[in-house]
Parts: sequence; C-alpha cells; structure tokens
Amino acid sequence: MSRNILVAVAWPYANSPIHVGNLTGSYLPADIFARYHRLAGNKVLMVSGSDSHGTPVTVRADAEGTTPLEVYKRFHSEFLELYQKLGLTYDLFSSTHTENHFKVSQTIFLALLKNGILYRDKQQQWYAPTQKRFLPDRYVEGTCYICGYTSARGDQCDNCGSMLDATQLIDPRSKIDGSTPELRETEHFYLDLGKVQNEIVEFLKARESYWRPNVLRQSLGQIQADNLRGRAITRDLDWGIPVPVEGWAGKCLYVWFEAVIGYLSAAVEWAQITGEPELWHDWWFNQDARAFYFIGKDNIPFHAIIWPGELIGADDWFGRLFEGSEGKKLNLPYDVPANEFMNLEGRKISGSRNWAVWGLDFLSRYDPDPLRYYLTVNMPETKDTDWDWEGFLHRNNDELVATWGNLVNRVLSFAYKHWEGKVPDPGELREQDLELIAAVEKGFETVGEHLEAVRLRAALGEAMRLAAEVNKYLDSSAPWFEIKTDKQAAGTSIFTAIKAIDSLKVLLAPYLPFTCERLNSYLGYDEPLFGEQGVESCTDSIGEHTALRYYPEKGKGHWAASQIKPGQQLRQPAPLFKKLEESIVAEERARLGS
Ligand SMILES: [Zn+2]
Repeated sequence: MSRNILVAVAWPYANSPIHVGNLTGSYLPADIFARYHRLAGNKVLMVSGSDSHGTPVTVRADAEGTTPLEVYKRFHSEFLELYQKLGLTYDLFSSTHTENHFKVSQTIFLALLKNGILYRDKQQQWYAPTQKRFLPDRYVEGTCYICGYTSARGDQCDNCGSMLDATQLIDPRSKIDGSTPELRETEHFYLDLGKVQNEIVEFLKARESYWRPNVLRQSLGQIQADNLRGRAITRDLDWGIPVPVEGWAGKCLYVWFEAVIGYLSAAVEWAQITGEPELWHDWWFNQDARAFYFIGKDNIPFHAIIWPGELIGADDWFGRLFEGSEGKKLNLPYDVPANEFMNLEGRKISGSRNWAVWGLDFLSRYDPDPLRYYLTVNMPETKDTDWDWEGFLHRNNDELVATWGNLVNRVLSFAYKHWEGKVPDPGELREQDLELIAAVEKGFETVGEHLEAVRLRAALGEAMRLAAEVNKYLDSSAPWFEIKTDKQAAGTSIFTAIKAIDSLKVLLAPYLPFTCERLNSYLGYDEPLFGEQGVESCTDSIGEHTALRYYPEKGKGHWAASQIKPGQQLRQPAPLFKKLEESIVAEERARLGS
C-alpha cells in the first residue's frame, strides 16, 4: 500500500551560507528519508524554502548597506546550487517571499482570528530613541533571565535554548548601535496558546511511544514548567507579510509565525506548479498521510508546540477561507525527529569566526557522497557529535573505499574481464551462496525498519555490515584463485557477489545516491534509480522567484532484492570513491578560523 509521506524540512534563514552542521542537522536526514520512501514506492512530498523575512535578514542587509530582498536572493541562489550539488531532492524548495506564501499565511492568520484564537493586546517593546524606532527582538541582546548567559538574543537564548520574553532581558542593548533601549507601548495580535494547550499536550502524549525522548521531554517540560500563554505574532517591521487587517499598516506577521506555515504553502505551490492545484490535500487533509519534520534541536518549541498550536487553533477554518471546504482539518506532525548539534574539531561551529566547514566550499574539493556518508555516520541523532578532519579521512578511506568501493570495483572489474563483460552464469548455487544472498536480502527488512523509524545512522551501519559480509564471503570463496582451476565455481561466486552488490546498491542509495546511480549503470541497467532535479523560475505579483524542483518520473529504483540475471551486459566499471591523502587533514585544519 502506497502511503503519503510529507517530508517537511527546516527553512534556512537566507542570511548566511550553509555549513555541515546545518546539513547533518536537518537537510541531509530529510533527503535520505525521502529517497528511502520513494524507493519503497510511497508518495513523497519533500518541501521547504528560504526563510527570507524577519530580522536575521534585515540585520544582515543593514550591516551590508543593502536591501533585505538582495540579501535573501543571494543566499537563496547559493542554497539552490548547494542542494543540487549535494543531491537534496526537494520536490519544491521555494521561498517565503512569494504571493502564494503571503496568501496562505494570511489565511492561517484569518482562520485563527475567526476561530477566536487570536486577541489584541498592548505590550511593552524595546524602543531605540537614538533611531526613533521599535527594536525587533533580534535587534536586542542581553543577559538571559533563565540561565544568566550574557549574549542571549531577545527571542531565544542560544545557551539554554529557552524561548525568551525580550522585555525581561537583563542589561538590554541595541544590536545596531549598542545604545540602551527603553520600553514603550505598542499594539499586537497574540496567538492564544493557552486556549489550545490541552490539545497540544494530548497531541504530544499520543506520540510518546515513538518520538525521540529529548524532543518529547523538552516540549512537555516547557509546557509543564510554564503554562502556555499568548505569544505576539505581529511585529513593528516593514519587511515581511502585512497583517491582513485594516489599520495595521507598518506591521508584519512575526517571522516564526509565518515561516512554519511554509510547510503548507510550499505544498500548495507545488500542487499549482504540477497542474493539479488540489493535490496538496493528499498530504494535508488525508488523515492517513504522515508528516515528518526535520529540524535542529534549537527549533523544537516552534515545531512541537507553536506550529501544532496554529494548526489546532485553525480547526477547519483554513479550508473554509482558502477554498470554501468545510470540516477539513490540517494534519498535525506525525514525528519531529529533531537532531542535536554537530561541533567542529571540538568547538561549537561559528560562522562569524569562520569556524565552519561550508557546504559549497567543501564540494569544490570533494565529492558529495563522501560528505553524505561522513555526515550520516556522525549524525547527531541523540547527542552532539563532532566533525573532525582525521575522522573524515578515515571514514572515507577505511570504510567507504575499503569496505564498499573496493568490493564493487574488484567484483565488477573481474566479471567484466573474465566473462566478456557479462554477469556470469552461476550454475547451481551452493549453500554459502544462498546464505549470503539471504543475509543481504534480509537487509531490506532490517535496514528498512531503521529508516522507517528515522534511525538513519543505524540503518547505514546495518547496510555497511552487510557489505562487510560480502567481503568475508569473497575472502573465503576467493574467485580470483578459483578461476585458475575451476571457472564455473568462480562464476558462481562472482554471480553471488554481483547479486549481493546489486541489492546493496538499493540499500545504500538513499545515502550515496551519486555513486549508487553510477553503480546501477555499471551493472548494466538503463533506467536510473532516482529522478532529476532542476531549477524553475516563477513570477507573481510580488516579483520573480526561483525554486528547486525534483521530478520523480524517471526514477525506477525499488526497495527490493536484486533480480539480476546471468548474461546481463555490464558496463566498464571505474572506482566509485577516491582514497584521500593524509595531508588533507593538516591542510583543512589550516583553513579553519582564518
Ligand atoms: Zn539562557
């Protein structure tokens, strides 16, 4: 039975390039998961986009003396380049600066308003007399009133992870000019989370059995510690989505309120582009669909509390206002498998100090699959991990090259040379051959179970263990020597190894799509495992925007054991991976922090 799987991926702020910590935190795991489900025959919709609004973008524009629009466009096009080079197969990677996103976000706002989940209130807001303007939370820094960290941002503390009330910051200062702001009164709309608190707790408790314990603990803990109160969802800011209420000019929807709506709006946009404008219903109104949210741990409260609060609070009003339907409620997250952080050579990654390995820069010197491999074996699924260049070198040379790449190359080159470029006829399979084939085929269950549960490291570990089994099998059957005395026996061994490799190709494809695609071709197949990526440009009333697309049609891979037949014509193989020199470790370390 084909299932509908929504792969909702964190929206990167379009104010900074993407580093390996971002990749392993959410974007890469999402792609691995999406590719697995596509191979398994499920209907996948993987969506995200650039978070182009909010103060992270305006702060950067101010610093550079340019406009927020220019900043967002520059980083957005870098994201598209990186995602293609790394093979992140978004069905749609759009942006929040589109007419469609404006409309969907404003409709959610109005749905909440209609359903009585919003209220107006006056609040104290930091005001900078030196600039005669209200300061958004991100423009204010100070000491966290929960943990005492002295560089807490107005909206969130990077040290303890708490969402903060900016007005309670101790020793506040303006990030623009360092001046001391004063509190003044301004009016805003508030999301009344208290009204939906019981439903949010119910939502979380219903997922207790399978959520990552840290995600659940943090979410429930936050609600228990501090009952949910109203949160202001508008801001005194002119870069963003206008509040769709008369008399509110000059105020925008808060970037966090509208960015999470992007998971919905991107699905709507995707459906429009594909020419079936209602197709998004299959992931959003279909109660059998499952939505997985791939995010970093700093975003847990927004995805496990606030976004579900918006969805619950909208009830069926989104459908009513957007398209005149009734009784249709938007699906809540099925899972939020948030990752912890990746550090770099023992220190926290810091873009501003260039203590980072940047995605595009890395790919200018190395291939994408070794990066995907290292970021998976080192993925911070349950605790923080560390990128270290020594580790990257060894994982590449000792595992990717030694265990998998050499296995493939040895077997295919040997078959190509001794059986006229064809898969040999095995004759009758021996017990050891049947055992190996059965062991590898079992991988479709064991690896698949881990992938279903978003245990991506464990799934890759299991697939690599099976590759090592094939090496052991070849060590004992030794077709390289068998061939001198008994070509038929050697043919049986090589056929068995090819069949195992053909299956492993599928098990590893979500992780190593580029090399598995090449391997698929060496094995003589004409149809690729996956579809294609491309960039499209769209123009609407707000302007022009570019989007990354994935076209699944040509992909014919299946999550199923090899059915390769004797006599299948192979193609001339070449090594899948390069062995790296020890010297790269010192070279790469010298680049850091400079
Ligand atoms: Zn703190």
